[in-house]
Amino acid sequence: MLDELTAALAGILPADSVITDPVRLRTYECDGLTYHRATPGVVVLPETAEQVAGVVRLCREAGVPFVARGSGTGLSGGALPREDGVLIVTSKMRRILEIDLPDRRAVVEPGVTNLAITEAVRDQGYYYAPDPSSQQICSIGGNVAENSGGAHCLKYGFTVNHVEACEIVTPDGDLVTLDRMDPGYDLLGAFVGSEGTLGIATKITVRLSRAPEAVTTVLAAFESIERGGEAVSAIIAAGIVPAAIEMMDALAIEAAEAAVACDYPRGAGAVLIVELDGPAQEVERQFAQLREICSGAFELRVAAGAEERAAIWKGRKSAFAAVGRISPAYIVQDGVVPRTALPRVLAEIDRLSAEHGIRVANVFHAGDGNLHPLVLFDDAEPGAGERAETVSGAILDLCIAHGGSITGEHGVGVDKAKHMPRMFSPDDLDTMQLVRCAFDPAGLSNPGKVFPTPRLCGEVPGVRKGAHPLVESGKAEQF
Ligand SMILES: Cc1cc2nc3c(=O)[nH]c(=O)nc-3n(C[C@H](O)[C@H](O)[C@H](O)COP(=O)(O)OP(=O)(O)OC[C@H]3O[C@@H](n4cnc5c(N)ncnc54)[C@H](O)[C@@H]3O)c2cc1C
Repeated sequence: MLDELTAALAGILPADSVITDPVRLRTYECDGLTYHRATPGVVVLPETAEQVAGVVRLCREAGVPFVARGSGTGLSGGALPREDGVLIVTSKMRRILEIDLPDRRAVVEPGVTNLAITEAVRDQGYYYAPDPSSQQICSIGGNVAENSGGAHCLKYGFTVNHVEACEIVTPDGDLVTLDRMDPGYDLLGAFVGSEGTLGIATKITVRLSRAPEAVTTVLAAFESIERGGEAVSAIIAAGIVPAAIEMMDALAIEAAEAAVACDYPRGAGAVLIVELDGPAQEVERQFAQLREICSGAFELRVAAGAEERAAIWKGRKSAFAAVGRISPAYIVQDGVVPRTALPRVLAEIDRLSAEHGIRVANVFHAGDGNLHPLVLFDDAEPGAGERAETVSGAILDLCIAHGGSITGEHGVGVDKAKHMPRMFSPDDLDTMQLVRCAFDPAGLSNPGKVFPTPRLCGEVPGVRKGAHPLVESGKAEQF
């Protein structure tokens, strides 16, 4: 089946755009979550939306699953390929098609990197606000699929708040546009964050933001994570909405220091990076308040200019990769809790870490309550990987127990699909599947992701045998 399909794909794509060589295929066997690997059946590198549509149509006719991939930086295994399927990589679709400053919009292809958008408009005083720490390499198509966040999403919102329209290839192979302005159901909102299960974005219209008049970046060093956490609560309680509030604990600081020599204050139990931006007068007033709130910090550094600001951010932005300096292997976890629950959840993570003999470095978007515990282990030590997985899963349980969620921004992917039933009832999950089925009745678009046990629409193995209750009651239709 795949051989026949491969020949057909070569017929509609430019030369060297269909990869079948086993060595080259291995390049694509995982995303940033290297724990899960699969060699794709075939990889294609289309250059246009029409070519993507052609590939999807051929897959649909052959009944072969397909998976979209941008830059492969995802941390939940969302772009994990299928051995029996086609991996559609957008890295040749990197054109910025239009920049419309009066309307503050840019139209880009999905493979364009997040930072490239800002770089294209920075000189004119604009930028693209959502800024995942991977922004130098991650694609905007991947950002849309994951509804990605970043340090500045506390004030400016996530990808969903900055996407105006998406041209998509539906799992049927049709090219359609979902526009924020369309009346009726918010299909664009449903598509953003759908992790490649509702189709493939081929053109994205993003909102551009005006660069703020003033920016003040502050690094505050505290003796303990508790003192840092109290400062976060006090900042928010004072009515200040900083552009970013990031926190790192002692272990994360140690890793960043080893990797990029960020020169954070010695002996800190936690550092807080707070960025204020907006009209100069407002930033000045908020900074005065902030200084008072952070009076418990044993050191307060204020960036004097762009260079010092970059130096403060350097440690935080490199934190994930940096833990590679202090541990042979690690799992980047992503959960979210109400801000006020942060101290309790961090104490519980400490307890779990001690109980299982697994170190955990904490880096988080503190303002959002979005935790990124980095669960460290030695993969050469028998059983360490399993213990790390146990701690990692228990952290998600903690997040749910404290009224939070199993993902703040990295998505569910293949990694957290098994945790979905802890957050949602079977009826919730079936209802979500019905949305998916409306787009993808054959279940060919990134199957096996997000949902724990496929039960509807031809995703064969399943608990449910009969019709879905919503279908039986006439409230929904299953195609
Ligand atoms: C060091 C590091 C730091 C990170 N920091 C952050 C952070 O601060 N905030 C954050 O939110 N994330 C962060 N991430 C995670 C990751 O970078 C984001 O999820 C990013 O959006 C993934 O983009 P990508 O192009 O690499 O997508 P991929 O990994 O290639 O794919 C991710 C998902 O999107 C789907 N997809 C890709 N392209 C398309 C398309 N055109 N249409 C439909 N579906 C598509 C894939 O099928 C997959 O499900 C970080 C990752 C790393 C490695």
